[in-house]
Amino acid sequence: MKIPGIMLFGPPGIGKGTFARLVAKDFNLFHISPGSLLRKLVNDRDIQNDPKLEYIQLALQSHSLPREDITMDLIIREYEKNKSEYKGVIFDGFPRSKSYIPLMKEKFDLNKFVIVELILSEHILMEKLLGRRECSSCHRTYNLTNYVNEVYSIPAILPKIEEQCDECGGKLVQREDDSPKIIQNRFKKYKTETLELIKELELEGLTKVSFEVKKGLDDYILISKLIEEAIFKSGKIQTNSKLIHI
Ligand SMILES: [Zn+2]
Repeated sequence: MKIPGIMLFGPPGIGKGTFARLVAKDFNLFHISPGSLLRKLVNDRDIQNDPKLEYIQLALQSHSLPREDITMDLIIREYEKNKSEYKGVIFDGFPRSKSYIPLMKEKFDLNKFVIVELILSEHILMEKLLGRRECSSCHRTYNLTNYVNEVYSIPAILPKIEEQCDECGGKLVQREDDSPKIIQNRFKKYKTETLELIKELELEGLTKVSFEVKKGLDDYILISKLIEEAIFKSGKIQTNSKLIHI
């Protein structure tokens, strides 16, 4: 089985998940974000008689990283079930480290993959992450940091009433993992593991395109154009020609 696709990478706080969902929809790709996929599988299915799902449930409960081969098997299994509806896959922040490369090579034709790397400087990301607030009841997110100057335009997303969710009136709170120390650790992990992984994948011959996010979601149209060009050049996925309107 050989699957074409995109690997989307970016540091914490850059909005990778949101961009990945948009790319998946426009290019008709199966969206794989392993954390949420595994949680969904464990919640949705009757996990008895499925040792792999039972194992994943235990790993999630103890906050440990599940074994790579089992994670990969479940991802492939899920993709196989749904693949007739899609033209390929988009990996959202996955794989996480170089140790996945042999498994990736075994399961996918890496020559058919394009790497998309989103970039933004750490001090801006730090300010945005520290400004992040989440509704304690419906989990809708807001951002109190307004980062707007002559180069960047990443405005605040404010509630209509201070500290109160527009949707449900719930109290807005800062997530525990949005503390400066934890954010620094996540940046460090990204630099030591993910950027190393990207270098290795480039050595394996994958095409990489990089994009500096300057306007948040408004950059999406440029990002999708960049992806379209990268894919066309390499002939990696047949795309919808109606996609680009610039
Ligand atoms: Zn709410």
